[in-house]
Amino acid sequence: MSQQTTTNIFDEARQFDETDGLRRFRERFHFPVRSDGTQPLYFTGNSLGLMPKRAREYVEQELDDWSRFAVEGHLHARNPWLPYHEFLTEPMARVVGANPSETIVMNGLTVNLHLMMVSFYRPTSGRYKVIIERGAFPSDQYAVESQIEFHGYDAKEGLIELTPRDGESTLRTEDILETIDREGDAIALIMLGGVNYYTGQAFDIRAITAAGHAKGCVVGFDCAHAAGNLELKLHDDCVDFAVWCSYKYLNGGPGGVAGAFVHERHAHAFDLPRFAGWWGNNKQTRFLMGPDFDCLPGAEGWQLSNPPILPMAALRASLEIFDDATMQALREKSLKLTEFLEKCLNDIGDGRVSIITPTDSSQRGCQLSIRVGDKALFEKISSRGVIADWREPDVIRVAPVPLYNCFSDVAKFADILRECLAK
Ligand SMILES: *Cc1c(COP(=O)(O)O)cnc(C)c1O
Repeated sequence: MSQQTTTNIFDEARQFDETDGLRRFRERFHFPVRSDGTQPLYFTGNSLGLMPKRAREYVEQELDDWSRFAVEGHLHARNPWLPYHEFLTEPMARVVGANPSETIVMNGLTVNLHLMMVSFYRPTSGRYKVIIERGAFPSDQYAVESQIEFHGYDAKEGLIELTPRDGESTLRTEDILETIDREGDAIALIMLGGVNYYTGQAFDIRAITAAGHAKGCVVGFDCAHAAGNLELKLHDDCVDFAVWCSYKYLNGGPGGVAGAFVHERHAHAFDLPRFAGWWGNNKQTRFLMGPDFDCLPGAEGWQLSNPPILPMAALRASLEIFDDATMQALREKSLKLTEFLEKCLNDIGDGRVSIITPTDSSQRGCQLSIRVGDKALFEKISSRGVIADWREPDVIRVAPVPLYNCFSDVAKFADILRECLAK
């Protein structure tokens, strides 16, 4: 690689950064600092999003109110704790393209996945199968298999795992739709990721949902890698249910509170089986503490427990940023940022690295998954101050996040990767 080309990517990055309307959002986040005082290049917002600076203030305010009001904070905190989850509902609904009544922030992601499957995976002997992606995130795989077994079926027989064609790394939409069409009569539930965590492939939520519904299947998505990354339209796409976590692209903090979506056509489906808890009960009568469960309509009716205020306070700080930036603008920048990363990687032109994420940008979010010869390259770039992540057996995942990554970050990363390959 000539010096000339290297200079070009830095110039190009600088120009992109200068005209980037979202550039100022970077200042609203804390970046980690290495032991030598330098700032690493952070590309793992797909794993743990950076901390919004205001998160500390928001959490401290709740700590402060706890110290001042104790139990009376439920009603008298500046943001009363009893209805606290409601402060998150609308901004979260905007992030995932849902109506507020379809959206709830609660629990952890895998917990929500189970709660949704309790209601929406209703197998019968003739129709009990579940479609997932081969190589789905392990928690999803375990959750789905254990649900199949819970209903008395054999998990291996009950699972249909979508697999790429020989020699290919990602799934073709036509193959997904064809499988649904072929096997649909035996399928109770289609449960895919919105974006696959490993390959970075984004699935066609609308087409898959329509194909599933045409065959009488329930269709749910795990949007852990899609929420805050793609411009989701869960309502318009008619998805039955979805779940996601808040600590990846949503910057809600480690172990942050997760989200769930239930389409409004199920808002009054009180005949569905569900695991109930007191927070899903009618708000007017909840504190009468009566023995009979009076289920709230909409997504709120799936709540179990009173909301965890401290992690929700941190998430509020982040969701405000999403409201200021808007998903539409974020996605617009994201497309350019990832295309720039792709171009820089292709320019390196080294056969030892290849991108397995689809080249069609409508089939991916911000992440590119780079297949490399061996882990040594990952260790080299890490020692040069790149925070990316390694996924066995041979992939480095790199996620330039439009909220806080800039084009110059990408150029620096590509330059480090080029140098490490040259050595
Ligand atoms: C991150 C992630 C999880 C993690 O589950 P938790 O319950 O939040 O620990 C599960 N599934 C997918 C698809 C993920 O990306």
